Formats: sequence, C-alpha cells, structure tokens
Amino acid sequence: MKYTEVMVRYGELSTKGKNRNVFINRLASNVKKALIDFPEVKVQANRDRMHLVLNGEDSDLIIPKLKLVFGIQNFSPSIRVEKDIETIKTCAQDIMKEIYTGNESFKVTTKRSDHSFEQDTSELNITLGDAILAIYPDIKIQMKKPDINLRLEIREEGAYLSYDTIQGAGGLPVGTSGKAMLMLSGGIDSPVAGFLTMKRGVEIEAVHFASPPYTSEQAVKKAKDLTAKLSPYVGGIQFIEVPFTQVQEEIKEKVPQGYWMTITRRMMLRLTDAIKELRHGLVIVNGESLGQVASQTLHSMVAINEVTNTPIIRPVSTMDKLEIIELAEKIDTFELSIQPFEDCCTIFAPPQPKTRPRLDKVYEYEKRLDINTLMANALAGLKIEEITTQMPVNDEFSDLL
Ligand code: ATP
Ligand code: MG
Repeated sequence: MKYTEVMVRYGELSTKGKNRNVFINRLASNVKKALIDFPEVKVQANRDRMHLVLNGEDSDLIIPKLKLVFGIQNFSPSIRVEKDIETIKTCAQDIMKEIYTGNESFKVTTKRSDHSFEQDTSELNITLGDAILAIYPDIKIQMKKPDINLRLEIREEGAYLSYDTIQGAGGLPVGTSGKAMLMLSGGIDSPVAGFLTMKRGVEIEAVHFASPPYTSEQAVKKAKDLTAKLSPYVGGIQFIEVPFTQVQEEIKEKVPQGYWMTITRRMMLRLTDAIKELRHGLVIVNGESLGQVASQTLHSMVAINEVTNTPIIRPVSTMDKLEIIELAEKIDTFELSIQPFEDCCTIFAPPQPKTRPRLDKVYEYEKRLDINTLMANALAGLKIEEITTQMPVNDEFSDLL
C-alpha cells in the first residue's frame, strides 16, 4: 500500500499536564533523529497527535524505525486524498481490495474535525459502508471488534484513510528525564537494565570497566556491540571505557581474598559516580538482580552502595533470570551477551567471596589502598566514543510492550 502519512498517537505523555509541550517537542526531535535517513519526511507535532507527512518516502522502511521510538503508543499509516466524496469512496475500495481476503468482518469509523464538510460522521460511515458493499456484497459488517476497522478522518487539509494500528514502543520520550550512567558489563542483565531505563525517558551513557591484558579486546568489543544494540532507540550512546587493571591488581595484592569482590565493586561504583559528575549525569543504573550472585545479596548491596548517596536504579533487581533472558532475547542482546569473553570481574573472582561483608573490615582493608591516586589514574585514562551503529532489532520487539 502506498501510504502518504503516518498518524502517531502519544503514549503516557498525554497525562503530563504543563510539561506536555516539552514531551511533545522531545518526541518530535527523537522521531526526526530516528528518521534521519528519510529527509523528505515532515514531522508535524500537534497537541494530541503527530503527523508524519511522508512526501514520497517509503513507509515500509519507516515503520520499523518508528517502532523503536519511546513515547509512541501506536501509529496508523494512512492515505491522504482530496476531500471529495467520490475520491474518498474510491480510496476506501482500493484499500479493501488490497486487504480483504473474503473472510474478515469490517466497519467504518469516521472522525471529523472539519465540521463544514458536506456529510457528517454517520452519513460518511454509511457512504463508505455502501461503497464497500458495492464491491463485496457478502462482506460481514460487525460493530464490535471487527477484523478490519476502516478509519476515515476529515480534517481541514484533506481526508485521511487508514485501517492498521501498529503498536509503538510505549514509555516516555528519551531525554525528558535526564541522564544516567549505565554500568554495562558484557553480561545479560545490564543491557536489559539499560533498555528499561531508556524506556522511561532517561538518556544513558555506558560505563564499561576493562582490565587489559587480563580481559581481551573482544570483551570491550562485546560491550560496544551491546551498546550498538541499545543505540537505535536514541540514535547514539556514549561509550566510556574505564581502565581498571591497576585497581584490580592493587586489590588483589593488598586485600584478603574474601573482600576482593566487595572492594572491587566499591571502586567501580566510586569511579562511576565520579564519571557521572564529569558527564553531568544524575543517577547510576546497573544490572544487579537480587540474590543472583555473592555481590547481589542485600548485605553486599549495602556494603557496596555505601560509597555514594547517588540514587542507583536497578531495573532488573526483582526479576528472575528467565524473565531477564526473555527481555534480552526480545531486544536482541542475548546472543551477544552469552559470547564467552572473560569480564574483569570473572578474572579476579575470588573462590569464596563474602556474601555478608562487614563494613569495619572493608574500611580496614581499603586503608591499604591509595584510593585517590587509583581513581585519578583511572579517570585520566577514560576512552569515550559515540556508538551509533544501527542494528536490526528482533521482530518480536513490539510484542513486549
Ligand atoms: P550482567 O549483570 O550484566 O549480566 P554480569 O552478570 O557479568 O553481567 P554481575 O557480576 O552480575 O555482572 O554484575 C552486576 C552489575 O555490575 C552488572 O549488571 C553491571 O551493571 C555491573 N558490572 C559488572 N561488571 C562490570 C563491568 N566490567 N563494567 C561495567 N559494569 C559492570
Ligand atoms: Mg548479573
């Protein structure tokens, strides 16, 4: 079908009172960014809906991109024709000829914002219903949950016909809720945590700790590839690689094994917090899930979290691993995450990490480290790069929202 427009319905942002304009403007600019390869598309963001005038661009290519934009509840590709009864009837018939297979029930729903139009909504419903019956006399008309809902909208500028409603990504437009630092390992959980955070309108930057030569180039590449999987939702994500070798070597040398993990995690959090300040972020996001491993018992979380007052969002904290995997599959990060490249935490994983670390011990062992210098060195070696690779997203994506 050759569509000329896409009508976009906003999600939750309709309830945001006076912030509404901020949300709509942000959504409009995110849509433009998502459709950067389609320069002819014109975005008209109104209070209640957004209209994308396609100006000849291909709707089949545009629809998959739109599905990834948070803040869109659903959208309908539509065809614009002259406000002339005969033209509208012909267009309705053409649509039905293309989609009717002989079994579906149908109805017509008309909306009219141009009240001067010659027919009112119920007359138009009948006119179009008759036009369809003229070509398919046996078609079943059904008011409640018809298979095909042929919609007509009469506006000032023209008449719009559509029949399809495509689910959007839901959530809030990214960028309307400030910026977070996502602690991104190469695992399954943190990319999912990043996805869920962006869904609520939060912009993210990915912070990844690497310990070469103990961790390989491929481990960093994997984290970057995961970032690339998250970037289509926003157009691009800053990837921040933190050199962590010196910190880990010092910890291994000076701290008893049972506390390696706790103190390593505290250092990661301190560094992420410092990077957050540098990058003007507001909060930290990680992929911790309650009880999953020794670092994620409540006791461990308390001991690790103690280094900062910065709010830490843990979107997957209460999910079961299988639930997280299901999401990872839907956002197409799972296959990448299970690639077997050693992460910095795996390499230095002590055989028996404390599941109930004691803070007095933590303080005692941390006195043996020159934390300020270790941090300054790591921060001096940050590598920052924007990851924009647009990768295909799993078809199943829309089922999830
Ligand atoms: P994931 O939790 O993403 O599956 P994982 O299981 O390897 O990865 P955990 O040991 O569960 O990681 O670590 C918990 C969280 O700590 C991660 O979700 C991530 O937010 C953060 N984290 C761990 N390792 C790193 C790293 N190398 N760089 C950045 N963040 C990390
Ligand atoms: Mg994990």
